[in-house]
Amino acid sequence: MLSPVFILTLFLLLFTPHTPRQSVQEDVYKERRETMVQRTIESRGVREEAVLEAMRTVRRHLFVPPKLAAQAYADNPLPIGHEQTISQPYIVAYMTEVIKPNDKMKVLEIGTGSGYQAAVLAEIVREVYTIEIVPEHGKAAAKRLEQLGYDNVHVKIGDGYQGWEEHAPYDAIVVTAGAEQVPPPLLQQLKEGGRMVIPVGPPNMVQSLLLIQKKKGKAITRDLMPVVFVPFTRSEKN
Ligand code: SAH
Repeated sequence: MLSPVFILTLFLLLFTPHTPRQSVQEDVYKERRETMVQRTIESRGVREEAVLEAMRTVRRHLFVPPKLAAQAYADNPLPIGHEQTISQPYIVAYMTEVIKPNDKMKVLEIGTGSGYQAAVLAEIVREVYTIEIVPEHGKAAAKRLEQLGYDNVHVKIGDGYQGWEEHAPYDAIVVTAGAEQVPPPLLQQLKEGGRMVIPVGPPNMVQSLLLIQKKKGKAITRDLMPVVFVPFTRSEKN
């Protein structure tokens, strides 16, 4: 005969609700985001609460190739295919902080890549317009952002050098590819008083991350730090 203890154990094993594996995994990633924010972002001086909160919220592991998900919260960029990279989390946070984001702003990003920087911006600002030159990345990012419910991000495939005139002027512009110079159309589409953050330097060299403020139509430039971004490429038509 089966003992009551055995029957009870069997019953408990079969009918106790288990935490699904996926949600356990999500908890692990949530903890890693918290550690990432404390150790690699706050510790380097990013203090704006809205930015830190966005970095804690956006699930970076969904923006990297699945085989790299376990490395998503490491302190470095990661390859996303087509010789492109998703930027180091600290750089994403820093570039977001320097444009002084708020919920009334309309921001243009050049270099959608995985869509991660766009998602971080979308957590804080009103509207994000983002342009990607590699169609595969643009399409994948648009789909990913839509699935995650970011209905305030608009993705366009094309050469970001020309900006996105239709929705200009922008309160801020974030360029995530290393340019040889500041594209004049971008400066033109920046609102008076607006901020642009852009890595500028010779091709395949360390770039200077520049913060540009538009004052009386002129660019006031500050050199923030040396950075390494993938190159800003041009489409052949332009
Ligand atoms: N912001 C991205 C990282 C971008 S890597 C993220 O969060 O994942 C830089 C991206 O800029 C690449 O995807 C590259 O294809 C794109 N890029 C390079 N030159 C460009 C141009 N002229 N216009 C638009 N996108 C460009």
